[in-house]
Amino acid sequence: MDVRHDTTAASVAAENAPAASEAGLKDDPIVSGAAPAGRNLLAHYREFLPVTEQTPLIGRGEGFTPLVRAHALEKRVGCAELWLKLEGCNPTGSFKDRGMVMAVAKALEEGAEAIMCASTGNTSAAAAAYAAAAQIKAVVVVSAGKIALGKLAQALIYGAVVIALDGTFDDALRIVREITARNPITVVNSINPYRLQGQKTAAFECSDVLGDAPDILAIPVGNAGNITSYWMGFREYRRAGRTTHLPRMWGFEAAGAAAIVENRPIENPDTVASALRIGNPANWQRAVRARDESGGLIDTVSDPEILDAYKLLAEGEGVFAEPASAASVAGVLKLAAAGEVKPTDRIVCVLTGHGLKDPQIALDVARDVVPAPNDVREVEKLLDLR
Ligand SMILES: *Cc1c(COP(=O)(O)O)cnc(C)c1O
Repeated sequence: MDVRHDTTAASVAAENAPAASEAGLKDDPIVSGAAPAGRNLLAHYREFLPVTEQTPLIGRGEGFTPLVRAHALEKRVGCAELWLKLEGCNPTGSFKDRGMVMAVAKALEEGAEAIMCASTGNTSAAAAAYAAAAQIKAVVVVSAGKIALGKLAQALIYGAVVIALDGTFDDALRIVREITARNPITVVNSINPYRLQGQKTAAFECSDVLGDAPDILAIPVGNAGNITSYWMGFREYRRAGRTTHLPRMWGFEAAGAAAIVENRPIENPDTVASALRIGNPANWQRAVRARDESGGLIDTVSDPEILDAYKLLAEGEGVFAEPASAASVAGVLKLAAAGEVKPTDRIVCVLTGHGLKDPQIALDVARDVVPAPNDVREVEKLLDLR
C-alpha cells in the first residue's frame, strides 16, 4: 500500500498552530496541501471554516488521516484506483472528531459550559473527549444496550454523564433536541451546523492528497451528516478552483436501517453495524440532494455483505475498521458486481471508524484461537511443521 502523507519541512514547521487568542489566525502559513498528523485542523482549513479571531483553535490531533491505496481490493473491484480514507486514525477513533472539534470550539466561543448529544456511540466518544479537552460538561444519551463496548468505555473514561435510554437512537435524539432547546446546553449532534462544517475537511484532504477530487466517493450513511459534509466540501473546493471536477457520491445504508432507500422512516432499525442503526436520518433531505446533484446513488448493503467486507479489509488489506465503515467497501463490491464501476474510475472509500471500537464483533466473526499444550513439538505440530 502507498501511504500518502506530506512530510515537507514547511508542513512540519506549521504543526501546532498557535491559539487564535495568542497569535491571531493570520500566522498560520500553510493553507492547503496534505499534512501530517499534529497540525491544527481548524487553523489549516480556516478559510473554509466558520473560524473567527475569537474561535479557540482547540485540537487533539484530529484530521490529516491517511489515505492508503488498497491494491487487492482494487483488483477485485476492477477500477483504476481504490483508496481508503482511514478515519479510524482520528484521536477518538472516528471521523466524528472533525465535526466535534469545530462544534466545541464554537460552543466555547459562544460561552457554553455544557454540551449534549444522542449517539450510536462514536459521537458520544468524541463529545466526551472534546468536552474534557475544553473543560466543559458533556452529557450523552445512548440507546441502552445498543452501544459498542469501546465507544461506551471512551465516553465514560473521558468523564461524560452517560444516560442509557430505554429507547432507540431516534428517541434519544428527540429527547436531546427538546432538552437543549429549553436549557443552556449546546446540542452537538449533526443538527448542529458546525459539526458538518468540521466534517467537510475530510473531502478537502482527499482532494489535496490525490491532487483532484476522486471520481466516486463511497461512504456509509447513518444519520446522513457525513455524506452531506463531504458533498459540501467537494463543492466548496471545486468552487475555489482547488479541483477540476466533482465526484459522484455513493452512499450505503445498512439494509435493516435503510430509511432513505426505502423512502420511509424505519421504526426499529436493525443491523450489525451499530453506527448505522438509525431509522430517521436527521440529514435525510440533504443526503438525497448530495446523491442527486452529484449523479450518485444511495443503496443498501446487507449485514452479511458488511461483514464480508469487514473481514476482507482486515485479512486482505491489513485495515481494521468497524463494521459500519465496511459498508462503503461492501457497497462498492456490490456495485462492481453489477457492472457499475468503470475500469478508469478512481474511488475513495471512507472508513469511518476504527475496528477496535467493537472488538466483540471481530471475535464473533474471526477464526478461533488455537489452544496448545506447553510443549514446543506440540506447537510445531499444530502449525503443520516438521
Ligand atoms: C456516525 C458514523 C457513521 C454514520 O455517519 P452519519 O454522518 O451519521 O451518516 C458511520 N460510521 C461510523 C463509524 C460512525 O461513527
